[in-house]
Amino acid sequence: MKTAIIGAGITGLTCAHKLHRQGNEVLVLESQERVGGVIQTELNDGFLVEHGPNSLLLDEIDLSNYFDELGLTNQITKANPHSRKRFIVRDSNLLALPLSPLSLLTTRAFSFAAKLRLLREFSIPSLENPESLSVASFFKQRLGEEIFTYAGDPFVSGVYAGDPEKLSASHAFPRMLELEQKHGSILKGFIKKARARQKDPDAPKRQLINFQDGMESLPKVLMEKIRKENIHTGISLNNITRDNNTWKIAWDDTNGESCEDTFERLIITVPAHAIPGLPFHFDSSDALQPLAKIPHPPIACAALGFRRTQVKHPLDGFGVLVPSSEGKNLLGAIFASTLFPGRAPDDHVLIQCFLGGARNPAIGQLETGDLLEILLPELSRMLGIYGSPVFVDVKKWAKSIPQCNLGHERFLEALEAVENKNPGLTFAGSYRNGVSVGQCIRAGWAAAQIQEQS
Ligand SMILES: Cc1cc2nc3c(=O)[nH]c(=O)nc-3n(C[C@H](O)[C@H](O)[C@H](O)COP(=O)(O)OP(=O)(O)OC[C@H]3O[C@@H](n4cnc5c(N)ncnc54)[C@H](O)[C@@H]3O)c2cc1C
Repeated sequence: MKTAIIGAGITGLTCAHKLHRQGNEVLVLESQERVGGVIQTELNDGFLVEHGPNSLLLDEIDLSNYFDELGLTNQITKANPHSRKRFIVRDSNLLALPLSPLSLLTTRAFSFAAKLRLLREFSIPSLENPESLSVASFFKQRLGEEIFTYAGDPFVSGVYAGDPEKLSASHAFPRMLELEQKHGSILKGFIKKARARQKDPDAPKRQLINFQDGMESLPKVLMEKIRKENIHTGISLNNITRDNNTWKIAWDDTNGESCEDTFERLIITVPAHAIPGLPFHFDSSDALQPLAKIPHPPIACAALGFRRTQVKHPLDGFGVLVPSSEGKNLLGAIFASTLFPGRAPDDHVLIQCFLGGARNPAIGQLETGDLLEILLPELSRMLGIYGSPVFVDVKKWAKSIPQCNLGHERFLEALEAVENKNPGLTFAGSYRNGVSVGQCIRAGWAAAQIQEQS
């Protein structure tokens, strides 16, 4: 079985690796000179910066077994236990979110009325027509207005950089909705799930991880396993046609030379916004044009290094999320040098700041100088920072995370219809199976599986 995979992000690479390991012939075609897609790590002046994902949630045994198989286990770095603590901003003050029922009683993050309202969640029956609800509407109805404002809204920003009034609850947080529908309450569902996990001797401890040399270790190891000759980077696709149940692909290689080959299977793992621009010439490919409408708001990620003595706040947590009601420019910041060891030189700290997103797309596109002019005074007030950063590295993503807003199912249906009409064709990626790195890895495996079965 000969398979072409378009895109060498984590979805494409894990798919290619699985097929390659099973003895299939694979060719990965990637337009960038490097592999990994949005997974990008850079070491500069002793600061180890993640331009894309900062961590990966190890939640099931399948992922730990996979890293073991890839020989990555001894490179795994676990998140500092302090990082369980997460801050939000309320009335311009940093407040820690509660980590236990006891700390819920004492926290200043929520008013007494909001805490009482939260407890009522246990007795509110499952919501009707949950698939029609936005994330905001779902959280507000379940948890109350104030908990949504100070916990739900910033949480959505942290995961999707999205607009909770537009995001679809069933597409953005399907597991949470499932718990609510099954147990009649999100809180009951979480408690039952946690108990079941405690009883399961095989369930790994849920933990955030990274690798000693950063997230990019993962695509680098996958590239070695798939072998370089099976991955062509820096290519430009010219034509994708279907001919006698095979896929004919024409492209220019990195030196501008024309290439052409025929494949029995074709797996598309480029981001959703790039699908309509692919040079498809086959039955029903026009049906893919609406995918251009899936929003991917711009995000600016500013990695800032300071001497430890410049920052008053102990940075004793994962980071801080800023509710939209606070009217700030910052969406949130990760205390990167607290989260994982070796991210900053001795006596220095690294803070990774996020701006833009659906909340304020214009800021995500600002020039670095203008961006810092907005960011530095705000961050300095928030964390008690004196003086200028000793290190700055800004990465701008013009199109970042796909937003599965209300009505997202029409895009999924279009993809399914095109796949059904064209056996041997599969689309996989964060717009379809969840945006986290873990979900993309599983999407890559699943796409390989479909190919195997067809
Ligand atoms: C700033 C940021 C922070 C994030 N933080 C986290 C986090 O902390 N934890 C977490 O779990 N997830 C995080 N995510 C989400 C997660 O990183 C992504 O959802 C995931 O890595 C996407 O992988 P992918 O392979 O599906 O897509 P991509 O990584 O986008 O890969 C797609 C590939 O297709 C290639 N391509 C595009 N067009 C063409 C073409 N015409 N021809 C050939 N190739 C093409 C691209 O160059 C790219 O290499 C973050 C995402 C962003 C943007």
